[in-house]
Amino acid sequence: MPFPACRHIRRSKAIHVTLRLLALTALSFAAVPGRAHDATPMARADASATAANRAQAEALTQSLVDLTAQYSAAGASDRSRIQSVLVATAARRRQLFESMVDNDPGAVLDAALPVAVRATLPSTAGVYLEQDAIQDGELEVYHVDHVDVSRSGYRYFLKTPEGRLSLHFADRAPSLPTGTKVRVQGVRVNGALALGGGNSVKQVRPGPAPNTIGDQRTLIILVNFQDNAAQPYTPVDAQAVVFGTTSNFFLENSYGQTWLSGDAVGWFTIAASTSVCDTGAIATQAQAAATAAGVNVGAYAHLVYAFPQNACGWWGMSTVGGAPSQSWIDGDLQLAVSGHELGHALGLWHSHAIDCGTQTIGAACNMLEYGDVFDKMGGSTYPGHFNSFQKERLGWLNAGVSPPITTVQATGTYSLESYETPGSGAKALKILKSTDSTTGYRTWYYVEARKPIGFDDFLGSVANNAPNGVLIRTGSESDGNSSNLLDMTPATDTSIWDWLVDAPLVAGQTYTDIDTGVTITTAWADSTGAAVTVNLGGAVSTATSLTVSTDQGSYTLNQSVALTARLSGPASVAGIPVVFSVQKSDGSVLNATATTDTTGNAVYKLRLGRKDPVGTYEVTASALSNRAATSFLVQ
Ligand SMILES: [Zn+2]
Repeated sequence: MPFPACRHIRRSKAIHVTLRLLALTALSFAAVPGRAHDATPMARADASATAANRAQAEALTQSLVDLTAQYSAAGASDRSRIQSVLVATAARRRQLFESMVDNDPGAVLDAALPVAVRATLPSTAGVYLEQDAIQDGELEVYHVDHVDVSRSGYRYFLKTPEGRLSLHFADRAPSLPTGTKVRVQGVRVNGALALGGGNSVKQVRPGPAPNTIGDQRTLIILVNFQDNAAQPYTPVDAQAVVFGTTSNFFLENSYGQTWLSGDAVGWFTIAASTSVCDTGAIATQAQAAATAAGVNVGAYAHLVYAFPQNACGWWGMSTVGGAPSQSWIDGDLQLAVSGHELGHALGLWHSHAIDCGTQTIGAACNMLEYGDVFDKMGGSTYPGHFNSFQKERLGWLNAGVSPPITTVQATGTYSLESYETPGSGAKALKILKSTDSTTGYRTWYYVEARKPIGFDDFLGSVANNAPNGVLIRTGSESDGNSSNLLDMTPATDTSIWDWLVDAPLVAGQTYTDIDTGVTITTAWADSTGAAVTVNLGGAVSTATSLTVSTDQGSYTLNQSVALTARLSGPASVAGIPVVFSVQKSDGSVLNATATTDTTGNAVYKLRLGRKDPVGTYEVTASALSNRAATSFLVQ
């Protein structure tokens, strides 16, 4: 994103913390209702420039439509004059679209000409027009972590056999990892595609299964530039940071299951200038230099390119997932950046905070991208553990031999072990918050008891309340980018840093979900853990159970599959929506809803088409807080 450079930021270990703190504070202030006028002059200038561009784009589109009508109606003598104006207008409009597609893709979509109109333009003007595009390819998701957080953000690309296209979303982008095979639909301007949001991307096939357990073979390639051959640290230093400190951070976070090993090679001087920020060229040339030095680059799951500070300006950038993942470190190499970028490399998005003014959750909320000050995937000032939503995604909790998370199914008091240490007791609670009526996916509260242990020892030295209670976040199934820290004392904070003290639910304090009436109370907290009383009230029918079945084991194309979900419980189970989610053998997903009858049965009939893929279809049914799965074969 070409944010104008407001100020030059010189980074050092000493000032990084200060800048990050200032940036987050500014973000938090801007998020408080009524303080929007505190937006920086630069933000106001950006907004007015965007509005002016939008108006100009609409006007130029209208001119094209008018000129085309004149052209069609004109006699032979006027045609060439109108055509030259048409071509000049189309060229100007094209230039404007190119400059807008990154910052304001929605405006490009709004001002795009319908295909029918485009077809009526003379071909000399037509070459300047946008195109409707449906394109298959492999998704690449990058995150740039700038010290000035207003300049941080995600970058999306589509790798196709014909080359790489940049993707620009007008609405929220889908939370799919690098490597996912997708089909996108949007408006193309040169190598850029303007897309309407998550629905403009369809997953064709999932990406490679994430590799998050065990040894993570990592290659650090140190490169510098033809006009700056500085070597700010040695390969041994780099190894100590990544295979020492950062590996220990992962080992502790994963309860001994995941670590980093590998090699640091270089320094290599690449044929690039320090004044250019071309991450693709740095990656290609770093790999070529390592290969020329005899390194088998293909043997590593994670590639890290580290270089002396250059024109990129940010501190770190990484793919979200990917095989191999790729991370770029611009300048100092230390845990603050390596732990965060390699978290992205394992497939993590950021840990956010939700600021709803004086309420914990309310109607008017702002999401603070890096707002989770307790978590390395949030603010990077403290090396805090990844939170329980993130660890569950990595399989470091609640999977295989990992410590468990207790899913609360009934009113009661539940104990939590200290979060940082290995053990067989629950490291977190999951409490149902809501179920999406369209997809069936659920949003949960995640509750954990943090103590000043290991990499969380900062909790013993900075003013905070985490050890005196529990932290509560929300996170949604199927959306890896949905980790949100909640503020349990929302009335008193003036900046996100106050959340260190405010966010925890301390012993004796109760949080009430205003939609469901569910209450969460910290019964006690000490150095070994905490206990939490959850009262589900009558809000959630937790005593129900769900099964799902098919009427046959296998089917042929053109047959119908009857899916029956059966909900049972002590009270009436009639009239309850059941969401069926069918993943076909090619990875595509179909969702449908049916309602239970008086016997608790909900039936959905899926008709197999002639063009449906053969193979195994996976079925999930969800209702209330239950989920059930089955599968069938199509031959
Ligand atoms: Zn990041």
